[in-house]
Amino acid sequence: MADSALVLDGVERHYKQGESTLTILRGASLTLWPGQSVALVAPSGAGKSTLLHMAGLLERPDKGEVMIGDEPTAAMNDSARTAMRRTRIGFVYQAHHLLAEFSALENVMMPQMINGLTRPEATKRATELLAYLGLGQRVSHRPAELSGGEQQRVAIARAVANAPGLLLADEPTGNLDPKTADHVFETLTTLVKATGLAALIATHNLDLAARMDRRVTLADGVVVEMG
Ligand code: ADP
Ligand code: MG
Repeated sequence: MADSALVLDGVERHYKQGESTLTILRGASLTLWPGQSVALVAPSGAGKSTLLHMAGLLERPDKGEVMIGDEPTAAMNDSARTAMRRTRIGFVYQAHHLLAEFSALENVMMPQMINGLTRPEATKRATELLAYLGLGQRVSHRPAELSGGEQQRVAIARAVANAPGLLLADEPTGNLDPKTADHVFETLTTLVKATGLAALIATHNLDLAARMDRRVTLADGVVVEMG
């Protein structure tokens, strides 16, 4: 069978709150396959961001395993986890987090150059990606000179600049009007299909979630399929 893009196996996460312990994830399990887009739909406070932080190796589970492309990460040291995060995982947040003083093109080039690509190589790939996402006429614009939807599409281009196998998005259209949100989602799902990337996208928007391959929710700290 093909390698999985992401496996969460019995992931637990607890937060100490003074005397008591707050359990957010109590054995969350989930498998994503390449080319699959999965919506994570759950109320605020249910633990969506916590789960994405585990999947993205930004935090360590208290118990359980996280596998990226079939590789277990629980026993890895921090530098191995960081290397894996940089090369294999892309992130998109609610706010675009683009660097204000740099152009769209430079923002997309940055992670590639950090990863060791030469400037011409990074320029070529960033230009192609932005054109693919419908931003061919916006490459030299700075973030402030772009609309909200364009900023998020640049953020998506940046997230996939190093061709990760896994894209994690935390309410990526939460700040956008419905029509723009729709367009950004379309861009995301098209990209997933075209590249074989797997995407896990936290969203409140059920209409958008309905267009993805699969929907899951969090109930009492475990992942439940919504069908
Ligand atoms: P969601 O993204 O679904 O809104 P979160 O994963 O952000 O939910 O948070 C889930 C719960 O965990 C919330 O009740 C939140 O207050 C709590 N929480 C998140 N991070 C921490 C932390 N670092 N310390 C204590 N509690 C936290
Ligand atoms: Mg959240």
